[in-house]
Amino acid sequence: MSETQPLSELSPTDLAAFRDAQQTAYDALVASGLKLDLTRGKPSAEQLDLSDGLLSLPATTTTPDGVDARNYGGLAGVTELRAMFAELLGLELDQLSAQGTSSLTLMKDVLSYLWLKGGVDSERPWGAEEKVRFVCPVPGYDRHFTLLEWFGIEMVPVPMTDDGPDVDAVTALVADDPSFKGMWLVPTYANPTGQVTTQEVAERLASMPTAAPDFKIFWDNAYALHHLTAEETKTADIVSLAAVSGHPHRPVLFASTSKITYAGAGVAFVGGSRETVTWFHANLGLGSIGPDKVNHLRHLEFFGTPQGVRDHMDKHRELLAPKFAEVERILDERLGGLGVATWTHPRGGYFVSLDVLPGTASRVIELAKTAGVALTPAGSAYPYRRDPDDTNIRLAPSFPTLAEVTGSMEAVATCVLLAAAEKLLG
Ligand code: PLP
Repeated sequence: MSETQPLSELSPTDLAAFRDAQQTAYDALVASGLKLDLTRGKPSAEQLDLSDGLLSLPATTTTPDGVDARNYGGLAGVTELRAMFAELLGLELDQLSAQGTSSLTLMKDVLSYLWLKGGVDSERPWGAEEKVRFVCPVPGYDRHFTLLEWFGIEMVPVPMTDDGPDVDAVTALVADDPSFKGMWLVPTYANPTGQVTTQEVAERLASMPTAAPDFKIFWDNAYALHHLTAEETKTADIVSLAAVSGHPHRPVLFASTSKITYAGAGVAFVGGSRETVTWFHANLGLGSIGPDKVNHLRHLEFFGTPQGVRDHMDKHRELLAPKFAEVERILDERLGGLGVATWTHPRGGYFVSLDVLPGTASRVIELAKTAGVALTPAGSAYPYRRDPDDTNIRLAPSFPTLAEVTGSMEAVATCVLLAAAEKLLG
């Protein structure tokens, strides 16, 4: 039998022989006592080391515009750090606020304010609506979905395409139904599929008619600067696109340095129209007299300029790109041509999205677990953890060492092949 013949074309005898060979390989894996983990979309220790210069900063306690960073105040964050990231994210200074360490917290804050008070363009608080629904491109980021679930916001999935979310599906949902109040979107190197939302899709999302006057695009640009190749993909300028289409308050932007400096001690940003940022501060100000400006100043001194951030990201790329190449190599060599899986080829971000034969993702994850390789639980990338086809597996190669990536991916490939052969044999 040919090495690259699709498994579905094998005779029952050949397929049974193939299954037996995979079972033997799998038993050897189990016996080898692996202890590997491909679940963690977080920076490795080597990546964190790149930012250890932060530990001896700031060298001063006064910001360039003369503010004592140690004191209360400055709710919007240190001006010069905001200016640095405004440039990197394609915004004006007053369209961006710098806050604490987590953009996810800012997403929860924004949702809470919308829920309790409504937005700048709301007729009433979202919590006073009979029903609130969100459009959720899938597969997507699990924490986006669990956050909405916590609010009791109903999630309606739409597929991700190579150009971003399926914009025809989105426009059809939101046009006539005012219960659709918003959507998630990771526009650059999406989690987990790596897709980049094109300018054309962004334009359509910015300009589409929505029955809800206060429809929001939660534009989570977590991977804006996280390129895996020399090409620096530019994110569409959603704030300008929304402004020219007459929906200036539609996008709310999020970003952070979690995967630029320290995931546990970085700076997070929230942005949008000037009115949106003012609204955010008005709500935030009830519970804060200002963010950690010392950390802002530390980051400002560490990078110096926007180019300093880009140069720093090149160093991350040098550490990350070989791990992603290894994932691709093993998937290609072990699964290519067998018709049992497809996978993404991300040019940035933190994940590879693997689609296995429908009905086998949970089996692959279970097999891997028994063999000592932790994979993200089945269905995680879907609202309510329901992967309708049981097909998607998120692979996160950033945290393990290169040798661990090799070991885990060889194991994953064996599990995919065994589960596929089992399925095809029925
Ligand atoms: N948004 C996306 C799409 C992510 O993948 C992650 C982390 O994996 C986050 C947000 C978390 O960001 P932060 O660390 O700023 O809370």
